[in-house]
Formats: sequence, C-alpha cells, structure tokens
Amino acid sequence: MADATILDFEYEAHTSPVAGADRAALLANPGFGKIFTDHMAVIRYSADKGWHDARIEPRRPIQLDPACAVLHYAQEIFEGLKAYRMPDGGATLFRADANARRFAESARRMAMPELPEQLFLSSIRELVSTDRDWIPEGDGASLYLRPFMFASETFLGVRPAQEYLYLVIASPAGAYFKGGAPSVTLWVSEHYTRAAPGGTGAAKCGGNYAASLVAQAEAIGHECDQVVFLDAAENRYVEELGGMNVFFVFDDGSIQTPPLTGTILPGITRESLLTLARDTGITVREERYSLDEWKADAASGRLREAFACGTAAVVTPIGRVQGRGFDFTIGNGGPGLLTEQLRQQLVSIQRGTAPDPHGWVERLF
Ligand SMILES: *Cc1c(COP(=O)(O)O)cnc(C)c1O
Repeated sequence: MADATILDFEYEAHTSPVAGADRAALLANPGFGKIFTDHMAVIRYSADKGWHDARIEPRRPIQLDPACAVLHYAQEIFEGLKAYRMPDGGATLFRADANARRFAESARRMAMPELPEQLFLSSIRELVSTDRDWIPEGDGASLYLRPFMFASETFLGVRPAQEYLYLVIASPAGAYFKGGAPSVTLWVSEHYTRAAPGGTGAAKCGGNYAASLVAQAEAIGHECDQVVFLDAAENRYVEELGGMNVFFVFDDGSIQTPPLTGTILPGITRESLLTLARDTGITVREERYSLDEWKADAASGRLREAFACGTAAVVTPIGRVQGRGFDFTIGNGGPGLLTEQLRQQLVSIQRGTAPDPHGWVERLF
C-alpha cells in the first residue's frame, strides 16, 4: 500500500463556476452555512485499498445506495474550522493541526479509519487554494470549512463499515453576530442529557447533535437561545451547550471551565482561551461546577461573567439562565469585560493583527 499520508490530489475544475459578479454579490452578505464554493475535496477509503483517490472536484450531489451504512447506523464525524482573509489579500488557517488530530480521535471512537493528519491538512490547503476567491473580506468574515466522513458501504449488517467517504466543503460566512456578540439566555435541560460517561460526548459526531436537537427545541420553546446540558450521571454539573463549551468568570479575576472527562467535546477555542488566559496571568481552573453553585454565585455576585465558545461564534456572552422554577441573571446581563478581553485577544491572533506566540496561524498564500 502506498504511503497514504502523501496522496496527490487529482484536480477536476468546475466547468461552470459561479461568475465573479455573482460571487461578489453572495460574499457581500453570506450569512452562515447557506452558500458554498465551487469545489470540494474527496478522498475514499476501503478496507482493502486504504486511503485512495484524493480529488478536488466540482461541488455536486453524491449518490448513495439506500442501504448505505451511514443512513442506518450513523457512522459519521465532522470538523469545523475557518480560513481567514489577511489584510494583504493572503489567507491563513488557525490551528488546523488540532482539528486534524481531533478528527482522528473522533474516528477512533466511532470505529472508523483514521485519516492521516497530513492528508487532512492537505485536503484543506488544496480546497482553500482552489476556491481562494471565495474567502470573504471584512470584520468577522471567514471561509468556514467542513471536513466530514461517513460510512459509505452498501451493507445492512451491524459492524464497522469497510468503505468510507471523506469530503471537505467550504462555506463563506459573515460575522456570526454583527457589531459584537449580544448576550444569550440559556435553558437548563432537566430531561435530556447530551452525553453519558463511556458514550460519544468527546467525539465530534453528527449523532451527538441529533440527540441535542429536542433539548434545543425545548430551549426555544421557553424563549431561550440555547440549551445547556448537565452531566448524565448526577444531573448536577454543568457540561456544555449543544455545540459550544462554557466558561465562568469570578470576582477574584479567575476563570473556570468544566474538565475534559470524556463527556465534553474538547473545543479548540476552549483550549486556546485557556492558554491565552494563562499567558495573561489569569488563574484558570478546569473543575466541575454545579448548577447549585451557579445559582448561588450569580446571586451573591461571586460570579461576574459567563460565556460560551466555539469556532463558529467564537465567544458568546451568557447573560441569563433559566430552567424549571428558576431564572437568574449573570452580572448586569450584558457582555462582561474579561469575556470581551479574551475574545479580542483570540480574534487578533486569528486576524493577524497581534503576535502569534504559540504558532497557531498557518499562512496558506
Ligand atoms: C465543535 C464543538 C465545540 C467547539 O469546538 P471548537 O473546536 O472550539 O470549535 C464545542 N462543543 C461541541 C459539542 C462541538 O461539537
């Protein structure tokens, strides 16, 4: 078998790409997850050939047999990362190697083959270079990249599939929130949990999202923005949102976030903020935090700020928390100072306007 980490990408150009003027109109107001670039990256895997057939090809529908394994048993994982337009017109990635590593870890948990990290990275680099004209300019705008992999074998037997398809699609995204993130109100789910010990909570798989949607709908039904999950074993400790990690900021200037015990997704934004906070001399704790403590600390003023974080929305202040029989406000309900400081530090590194002491930014061109 050839060394799969150095597959060459075969290139098939789109015969009718979106015209420049139409693309410019789309990029003026891209929203999130609605418009897509001209091309996609595809790599195939089979148990007998390993990773093979790496291609950059026109973005188009994929045909699946109705007995395709993923449609029945949900062997599917994904990643989310962004390419940023630099002031000089070039482009960068932020910690893509961490996404590559996490993708391999997710694959292991779902009994899927691990895509070599170098192959993950070259699929991203090739696609962004091909569709470079689709990286939007402007504050908060980026090209959102969605690598994903699923079991493509036609087989209804229950076992890890022997064939997989890996793809990367790219979607220009505007600022998630225009003019700074407004505070969100969270709903604490009483009935539903996101992940149990020994389960798939630390893997970035579609199934975790499927399991979270009814709780998110419950949050919306209570006029809240997002659901926040408690731990499945004791129903006491704060875990995370459906797709974002959570942080607490205290009156002594320290910050705290739930530890990675296997039921929480190890966010790259989470890890980056922990590092930046430590660099700044902030006391950082990765410790469990119960809903009871949360209520008491918000009431006493010991808790000053709280925020959620992830690649898509970066940092989102949490202003208010509701659940059955309670409703409390954090600080004055608005975005907190330390929340804003950490967000600014991270965004400045991502945007190339601040030094990058940890080597997180990769220049593509
Ligand atoms: C992707 C994701 C996050 C955030 O991870 P980042 O690497 O910071 O984007 C948090 N929680 C869940 C459940 C996720 O799927």
